Amino acid sequence: MSFELPKLNYAYDALEPHIDARTMEIHHSKHHNGYTSKLNAAIEGTDLEGQTIENILMNLDTSNGAVRNNGGGFYNHRLFWEVMSPNGGGAPSGALAEAINDAYGSFEAFKDAFSKAAATQFGSGWAWLCVHKGGKVEVCATPNQDNTLMPGVGCGGHPILGIDVWEHAYYLNYQNRRPDYINAFFNVIDWSVVSSKYEQNK
Ligand code: MN
Repeated sequence: MSFELPKLNYAYDALEPHIDARTMEIHHSKHHNGYTSKLNAAIEGTDLEGQTIENILMNLDTSNGAVRNNGGGFYNHRLFWEVMSPNGGGAPSGALAEAINDAYGSFEAFKDAFSKAAATQFGSGWAWLCVHKGGKVEVCATPNQDNTLMPGVGCGGHPILGIDVWEHAYYLNYQNRRPDYINAFFNVIDWSVVSSKYEQNK
């Protein structure tokens, strides 16, 4: 039993003009596919084979670079595709909106905090909105393909929204204008999916 590259719920061009089709195609079929196959190679024949990706990451030996980088890459991109939609944008409602308001005061203040975390992550990495047990939400960023499920990494919550700020995620369309890409990302966030992840992991 090995991990498979997940299919997208939308076409490569469905997120245009915010994220262009060529970037989506390369990102999914090359980058994510590469993490997936390298993860499978890294766990083949070990006691990690057959475990869920969440278990692998939560119990990760962080000195195991192959599993850390490729397991993170597999999980992070799967989440990234799930939280985007051509029908995205707007703002969350319900319990997630309340949790964001409790933590940041307003959606706009949360957006500023998340965008700043994504813009200031030096080099490659991710910015996250995470939920802690009990329902409190928190923004943080992590380098490379790390994420907050890994022991001692980031804010330690369960990621419910993530943005990839590796250059491969935006360079074809935005070149060095990472803040423009981050701003555009908010037009494709599917808050109903993020809310479901909040409810499942709070
Ligand atoms: Mn990526």
